[in-house]
Amino acid sequence: MRALSLHPDVVTVTSSVWRTTATLVRGPGEQPESLLIDSPLLPVELDAIRGLADQGGFDVQGLLATHADWDHVLGRLAFPDALLGLDERSAARLMGRMGEPQRRLREFDREWYVDRAQPLSLGELQPLPVPGRLELGDETIDVHDGSGHTGDGLILWIPWARTLVLGDYLSPVELPSWDATGSRDLYRAALDRIVPLVHDARWVVPGHGGPISHDEALLVLDEDRDYLDGGDVPIRGSKTASGKQHEANLAVWDRPADPLPQLVKADALPGPPAVPGA
Ligand SMILES: [Zn+2]
Repeated sequence: MRALSLHPDVVTVTSSVWRTTATLVRGPGEQPESLLIDSPLLPVELDAIRGLADQGGFDVQGLLATHADWDHVLGRLAFPDALLGLDERSAARLMGRMGEPQRRLREFDREWYVDRAQPLSLGELQPLPVPGRLELGDETIDVHDGSGHTGDGLILWIPWARTLVLGDYLSPVELPSWDATGSRDLYRAALDRIVPLVHDARWVVPGHGGPISHDEALLVLDEDRDYLDGGDVPIRGSKTASGKQHEANLAVWDRPADPLPQLVKADALPGPPAVPGA
């Protein structure tokens, strides 16, 4: 695990597994508040991020997940009292497939003999409108649409730290990929939305691979756009070796995205049938 301070209010931890990133953000002001975006994987890393938050004065009251993939929603294992905020579509996805993150986590733990002190409970979810804004201390985080890799997702712009937290885009270590609710077209469209944000950023935090500089992010952006347009695997760095992922991508290269479940609001539920003459 590696920890890097990108700004006095932003610390990113990169997991030893899949180089998954998790980011502590403090909203400064008279009553500073903090958030954890995404999560590290291993129990020792979840303990360490709690310790880092304590030492660094990050009073974590909320969690955010860039999307509902199981490896990004483990924050409550470190901060059991914090509420998990996510895209409305992520909430719909989790409610449509109850228990999926827990099942996937158990499978991972079984495969690697990982011992966890407690099971994962996601608690109450806080669905967020996308696009939107989130107040944190005296500052505001901009929430942009991050769908493409999956049908749900958000991208977070932290203006006072000029830091962009992306979810599974612009990874320096893995090829673009999409699940059944995402697609190559949607992923490509997400990259177009990301361009202006990268231009303003000092740091970019992809979901996997650790924080990268503005210049590195622009290089990855070009490589990933070329890859999605023409199928040419980048020749720089570890992506060259992603033969398996490339094959998997080719199998769904032009596949359209499956629809996501809709979040059913209580007031939208059908009522009892009207009684004639009542
Ligand atoms: Zn991921």
